[in-house]
Amino acid sequence: MIRAVVYDADKTLWDHHNVSEFVEPIKIESQDTVVDSEGRKLVLFPEVKETLGYIKSKGLLLGMATWNFEDKVMRILSLLGIDQYFDVVVARSYPYKFIMLAHFINSLRRKGIRIRPSEILFVDDRRLHFGNIWYYIGDIKCLEMWKDLKSHKELIGVIESIMKGRNA
Ligand SMILES: [Mg+2]
Repeated sequence: MIRAVVYDADKTLWDHHNVSEFVEPIKIESQDTVVDSEGRKLVLFPEVKETLGYIKSKGLLLGMATWNFEDKVMRILSLLGIDQYFDVVVARSYPYKFIMLAHFINSLRRKGIRIRPSEILFVDDRRLHFGNIWYYIGDIKCLEMWKDLKSHKELIGVIESIMKGRNA
């Protein structure tokens, strides 16, 4: 059973590779586009909002594990209008996703929610993180964005098939 989905941010939810570079004032340019004061720009990928909405509508927990400054990520999530979907955002100054996923699990535990690694789906555009996650945390279901999932909405089908007991 799946109880939580955790996303990477850069190149997974949006097209920019490092939003920690963004310099205030950071502004929304159009519905899915954010720009900074020095001409940097990010565009949220198609179907992200619908997929996040679906995940929450199913009562699943939603997390983020990103190598970024927390203030930048929170600002951008808020400008894009998707901050309210995330139960836990783990943004750190190091690239180790397995540590961030441990923080995610511990932060839920502090809220009285106990979750097993096998109940977490993790989506990241960089497959190299997956080995350490499996070695140190356990059998989290890891999906490589743009390879295992060709689009964001594909995750909906994956979640539905897991919930029906297939593909588990
Ligand atoms: Mg990434």
